[in-house]
Amino acid sequence: MAALVLDGKALAAEVRAGLRDEVDALAAAGARPGLAVVLVGQDPASQVYVRGKARACEEAGIAVFDHKLAKDTREDDLITLVRQLDDDPRVHGILVQLPLPAHLRADRVIAAISPAKDVDAFHPETTGRLFAGTPTFVPCTPAGCMRLLALSGVSLPGARAVVVGRSNIVGKPMAQLLLAAHATVTVCHSQTRELAAEVARADVLVAALGRPEAIRGAWIKEGAVVIDVGINRVEGTKKLVGDVEYAPAAERARAITPVPGGVGPMTIAMLLVNTVQAARQSAR
Ligand code: NDP
Repeated sequence: MAALVLDGKALAAEVRAGLRDEVDALAAAGARPGLAVVLVGQDPASQVYVRGKARACEEAGIAVFDHKLAKDTREDDLITLVRQLDDDPRVHGILVQLPLPAHLRADRVIAAISPAKDVDAFHPETTGRLFAGTPTFVPCTPAGCMRLLALSGVSLPGARAVVVGRSNIVGKPMAQLLLAAHATVTVCHSQTRELAAEVARADVLVAALGRPEAIRGAWIKEGAVVIDVGINRVEGTKKLVGDVEYAPAAERARAITPVPGGVGPMTIAMLLVNTVQAARQSAR
């Protein structure tokens, strides 16, 4: 049977439309949600992401405070800007687009954001709370993956979940969220032996390794739910592929996310959710 295609674009549009009333209510009360977006340098991929995020915010009625800085910006100047944004009552969320140029220490910059405005959810306090099971903000990509899993209808308690990738922004928080949802979680990485065998046991697979189609379709367990976080450009073309070999995986899976149009749009939608949450909390 053909897999259910988990349409992240449609789900993201639904999530964003669902925010509209609350954004309007906050704005009417004089607390329009506001997101500051800080981009250092001119990395083309980052420029595209930042533009997409700003556009989605504006469509939802969220104010955007754009800060584009030169690539040779000094770390102390960047931190000074972050602190100013932190003190600005119109700004409820601060996003510093990563990766930063090599001379800037992302951990120092992120630590300068107050946890109340940490809508990207990379501050160590936010991370600690997620790991302790008392989350404030949840990182956007894994949060989006959880919404897609809910859309698939999969029951997570007791399910075998395999996360491939252990980055701080995707793999690790994803594993925590699955654990909190009572799945039995395995995290794989570049030193995992027998990746194919680990993947073949997964009722739920989250692929976030950043290697085009590295997860072969034949490895997927019949009836599994597959969430493909990967975004890889096929060299010399404009085509994007995920980390999973889509067509054969879709023949075996019960549900699968496409690339593009799966996790990507949900990541942006969850940033808006976090920003509205931050505005709601500051209005209390
Ligand atoms: P990182 O490069 O930070 O992490 C990749 C992880 O995959 C590492 O833990 C690495 O292991 C592991 N890995 C690499 N190669 C293999 C392999 N052959 N077998 C098993 N594990 C492997 O990537 P990110 O987490 O930032 O991103 C992952 C992918 O998701 C990328 O394609 C990225 O573009 C995409 N992405 C998509 C988003 C979206 O919104 N859709 C948002 C964020 C990312 P080790 O730790 O041992 O090095």
